[in-house]
Amino acid sequence: MNAPTGTLYIISAPSGAGKTSLVKALIDTVAQIRVSVSHTTRAMRPGEADGVNYHFVDHAAFLGMLERGEFLEHAEVFGNLYGTSQRWLEQTLGEGYDLILEIDWQGAQQVRKLMPQSKSIFILPPTQEALRHRLTNRGQDSSDVIERRMREAVSEMSHYVEYDYVVINDDFAHALTDLKAIFRANQLHQSSQQQRHAGLLSELLA
Ligand code: 5GP
Repeated sequence: MNAPTGTLYIISAPSGAGKTSLVKALIDTVAQIRVSVSHTTRAMRPGEADGVNYHFVDHAAFLGMLERGEFLEHAEVFGNLYGTSQRWLEQTLGEGYDLILEIDWQGAQQVRKLMPQSKSIFILPPTQEALRHRLTNRGQDSSDVIERRMREAVSEMSHYVEYDYVVINDDFAHALTDLKAIFRANQLHQSSQQQRHAGLLSELLA
């Protein structure tokens, strides 16, 4: 793998914690950040578009990519397969972009092993009731699916201890400020600043 120049961020959350809206708001306001579009075998939901929310593929196509080693990580979540394209990730980081992976805890474990320099963030809902409310309000899944997702959410949340940062999404604006603070602090890290301001630094130290 080429030495990446951008920072890789992993963001996980249980379904309904507001992760996708927070990430969207984050990339609208912070420069030089991109979000990876995963491949999945799950059916497209209303309002989603192929190549925007996910690359929607069938089982055979997914397994073909897996066999050819095209995924950096992959996992089965709620009975569907999800994976992150390795080539796109390497290319984007190599171009100097910071990159966000919105993946589950299983994928996060795989990426952490392969790229220990990555930063991981877990987003929690303020209460279980708020989570249930958000899952119900989305109106996209049946009540069976919602109950199953509540159980999966508790299991997903138990992995928060494996992450570098934890953000609680009680108030959207507050959670967004917290997220931005994490990204800003990492951009100010000495190694990033050295790369970004190489010209200034050599001039200052001449
Ligand atoms: P949803 O189907 O609701 O969009 O996502 C379900 C779960 O799959 C979420 O926890 C999401 O973070 C996770 N997920 C989405 N894309 C990927 C991926 O590429 N890899 C892994 N490991 N998980 C993913």
